[in-house]
Amino acid sequence: MPADVAVVGAGAAGLHAALEAAEAGASVVVISRKPLTETASFRAQGGLAAAIAADDSPARHAEDTLNAGRGLCFPAAVEVLVEESPGAVELLMRRGVAFDLQPDGELALGLEGGHSARRIVHAGGAETGRALTSRLAELTSRNERIEVLEGASALALWSDGDRCHGVLTDLGPIPAAATILATGGGAALWERTTNPRGAIGAGAILAHAAGADLADLELCQFHPTALSRPGDRLDGWLITEAVRGEGALLLDADGRRFTDELAPRDQVTAAILDRMAADGTTAVDLDLRPVPLGRFPTISRTLESLGIDPAREPVPVAPAAHYLIGGVHTDLEGRSSLDGLLAVGEAACTGLHGANRLASNSLSECFVFGSRAARAALEGPGADPAPPEPDPDPSFPAPTEETRRAVWELAGPIRDPGRLEALSSDPYPLARLIAASALARQESRGVHRRIDRPRVDPELDLHHNVVGPDEHARMDRWPAEGVRVRLTRA
Ligand SMILES: Cc1cc2nc3c(=O)[nH]c(=O)nc-3n(C[C@H](O)[C@H](O)[C@H](O)COP(=O)(O)OP(=O)(O)OC[C@H]3O[C@@H](n4cnc5c(N)ncnc54)[C@H](O)[C@@H]3O)c2cc1C
Repeated sequence: MPADVAVVGAGAAGLHAALEAAEAGASVVVISRKPLTETASFRAQGGLAAAIAADDSPARHAEDTLNAGRGLCFPAAVEVLVEESPGAVELLMRRGVAFDLQPDGELALGLEGGHSARRIVHAGGAETGRALTSRLAELTSRNERIEVLEGASALALWSDGDRCHGVLTDLGPIPAAATILATGGGAALWERTTNPRGAIGAGAILAHAAGADLADLELCQFHPTALSRPGDRLDGWLITEAVRGEGALLLDADGRRFTDELAPRDQVTAAILDRMAADGTTAVDLDLRPVPLGRFPTISRTLESLGIDPAREPVPVAPAAHYLIGGVHTDLEGRSSLDGLLAVGEAACTGLHGANRLASNSLSECFVFGSRAARAALEGPGADPAPPEPDPDPSFPAPTEETRRAVWELAGPIRDPGRLEALSSDPYPLARLIAASALARQESRGVHRRIDRPRVDPELDLHHNVVGPDEHARMDRWPAEGVRVRLTRA
């Protein structure tokens, strides 16, 4: 008997979409390759952005998102996010997620780079991801309409090129009327990363092989402040932006400030890279002494375990790949270009983040678009009574260390198109698609800089790279008309 909905992935987006679909009456199968602790969602420290404060508004949240996105946000997606994220926070509270409160019982709201107001809802200080996903996993495992296949891997989609009929897993085929990819991002394809090792862009690879369009794969966000300890297991460990919201400073080799610590991420990352190049260093210092460290127990504990006392000494940090903005191209209901296939969370690309994601918008995205995708999944035509025979021998590729090193070196934040060409023949399919997309975007914008085209090309505002089954990247203009939020210039 086919499930109404198959959800691949059990991070914030997958768990939320599964609960929403099940609560609407659907039978749901969740396929989850790794334990909860190995999702990006579990690791999220800062929180989720929502315009809740009395002095804030969705319009202001939209302005900050558009400003960070450098002329590339799809305004209709921004409008959906900013208007629906306060409701998502309420829903999560009804579901029993214990967000941090002020003494007066109101939500405690944090400040992060690029936000003009306090609007980051968090839990356990910097333990938001753990609190959120643990609660959602508990509800999922209790829900009788949801079957969780823990430890199962999606190897391919069950597709005939026109329609998705379910998922092919290492446990066998799972037929489903609708399939939702919630497989997370691909930032672990870059050697230096804040992400769990499994974040290799599985959703994009599965969708592409099944015939769906992908978008904006050249846009990967580099987090400015990842721990720098070459060779150590914790190299790349993220130190949340929220500490800069509470006063942490970035210092150069002479102990001097060199940038606005609360500027959007692309700007802070570029300032750090320039300073490292000028000083001939591999890291800059993050001074946590001004920060009330009691609010960030995980950060203090982790640094102390490495012999660093953040109350006394600076912490070496450098940029690392953090968030793959590109992914499976979807509409505002999570629908991909392949019938029966949807995508949500970091696996998807609605154009929301433009060329630079505003901090803490991604968890909000998981919930806002997760609800929409769950509803859309139930509106489909139902399972095909006679699906084609599934591929008897599906297989899923894994990237090698050489690929990860090449992606970091050739498609990092600063790119030389002459060298990028070399990535076009990498054995890993997503590495090739990233190269094709990066070569097609002939400008520097947001998260990446091309040495041959150091400036934004205003003609490319609102233009997104779409890659179809033929592996060619084509630039499409996505409309800005018909919505209230207004695009700001790059
Ligand atoms: C260290 C860190 C801190 C962050 N902090 C914040 C923050 O404070 N605020 C914010 O908004 N964002 C933050 N982000 C980004 C945010 O956490 C992610 O974008 C978001 O959690 C992605 O959720 P997801 O559900 O899409 O994917 P994930 O949480 O990564 O879940 C993906 C799921 O898919 C499964 N999967 C993958 N491939 C397969 C397969 N082939 N078969 C079966 N299962 C598969 C995985 O096992 C996992 O269950 C942070 C990211 C990191 C890495």
